[in-house]
Amino acid sequence: AFNADVVPQAPEDPLFGLMAAYRKDTDSKKVDLGIGAYRDDNAKPWVLPVVKAADDLLRKDPDLNHEYLPIGGLADFNFASQKLILGKDSAAIQDKRVISLQTISGTGAVHLGSAFISRFYNPQSAEAKAIYCSSPTWANHNQIITNVHLPVKTYPYFSKETKGLDFDGMIKAIESAAEGSVILLHACAHNPTGVDPTRDQWTKIAHVMRQKRHFPFFDCAYQGFASGSLSTDAWAINYFVDQGFELMIAQSYAKNFGLYGERAGCFHFVAAPSANAQDEVARVGSQLAILQRSEISNPPAYGARIASMVLNDDKLFSQWEEDLRTMSGRIISMRKALKSKLDELETPGKWDHITEQIGMFSFTGLNEQQVGKLREKFHVYMTKNGRISMAGLNTKNVEYFAKALDSVVR
Ligand code: PLP
Repeated sequence: AFNADVVPQAPEDPLFGLMAAYRKDTDSKKVDLGIGAYRDDNAKPWVLPVVKAADDLLRKDPDLNHEYLPIGGLADFNFASQKLILGKDSAAIQDKRVISLQTISGTGAVHLGSAFISRFYNPQSAEAKAIYCSSPTWANHNQIITNVHLPVKTYPYFSKETKGLDFDGMIKAIESAAEGSVILLHACAHNPTGVDPTRDQWTKIAHVMRQKRHFPFFDCAYQGFASGSLSTDAWAINYFVDQGFELMIAQSYAKNFGLYGERAGCFHFVAAPSANAQDEVARVGSQLAILQRSEISNPPAYGARIASMVLNDDKLFSQWEEDLRTMSGRIISMRKALKSKLDELETPGKWDHITEQIGMFSFTGLNEQQVGKLREKFHVYMTKNGRISMAGLNTKNVEYFAKALDSVVR
C-alpha cells in the first residue's frame, strides 16, 4: 500500500546526517562545527555544575516518583519560567494575563503555538493566516509550521554584503504583510546567522508591527546563553510586552541548562492589557490543554524538575548565572580568537562579523564549494550554508580551523 509514489524516500535531516558523517571520520584532526550544542574546551559535552547539583538533590528526595505530570506540566516550573522570561516584577504576570504550558523543549513550544494559530487564529483576511519567518531561519520552523497546515512566508533578514541584518528589507516586508499577520521573531542569538537587531531596530520593528496589528511569536532558545545576561537576552520580548502587544513565546531550556535531551521547555501566551484579559487567557489555556492532551498527554518530568529546582532557589539560581557566563564567555573568547588568527594570517575578506555576531552560531559567508573543501581536505564539518557552531571551536583547534579557512578562501 505504501509504494514509492505514495511514500517517497525522504532526504536525511541535513544536520543529523552531518553528525553521522563526522562520527565516521577517523582523522584525529577532525572538527565538528555542525551541531548546535555547547562543548567545553576539550570538545566534550558539558553538564552544567548547577544541573549536577540539582540532580544530586533531586535523587536524594525519598518522595520522588514517576507519576504523570498534569497536562500543562509542572506548575512551579511554569511559574518560574514566566518570571524568567518576563521578569520578576512583570505587570503581565501581576495582572494574571499569562498562561503557560510546559512543552517538549523549544520545538514543542513552537509547535504548540503554531497549532494554536492554525486552529484558532482568525485574522480579517485569509492572507494574514500565515506565519512569517526570517530568511533564513532555523530549518525546523518551516517543517513545524507546514505540519499544522499553515503557509510559511518569509521576510528578508541577512545581508550577504554586510553579513549583518538586512534591516530595510525586513521592515519593508513586515510593513507590506497583510494586516494581522503572525511574525515569528528570534528573541536573541538568531539561528543560523548570529545576527540580532539592535534595541533601536527592535523599537522600529515593534512600531511597524503595532501599526499593522501583526501578532508577534517569539522563539527564545538562547536566553542567557547569548550575552551571559538573562535580562539582556529577553530585552526584545519585554519591550514588546511593555508596549501592550498580545503575543506568544516559545522558551527552550536545551542550551541555557544543557538539558538538550531532556526536552524541557515552556510555551507562554500573553494577553494584551484589557478588562477581559483574565477571561481570555483562561479560554486560551483551556484550548491549549486540549491540543497538548491530544498530542503528548503530558510533558516529561525530569528536565523540568531540574530546571524548576534551580529557578526556584536563590543560591542555585546564582550558580546557574555563573554557568551561563562560563558558556557565553568561552564562546565570545572563541570568536575573538578566530578573528585574531584570521587577521594574523591576513586572510582575504572582511571578518568583523565573526565578533559582531552573537550566540552559538556564526554565518561565515563561506559558499557551498568552500564548505565542501573544508570537509574533504581538512575534516571540518559544518552546514552547507556556511554556518559554524562557535561551541565546536576551542583553544586546541581554533588555529587549525583558521588556517583551513584561510586556505579555502584563497
Ligand atoms: N528555536 C531555535 C531558533 C533553535 O535554534 C532551537 C534549537 O536549536 C530551537 C528552537 C529548539 O530546540 P529544542 O527543541 O531543543 O529546545
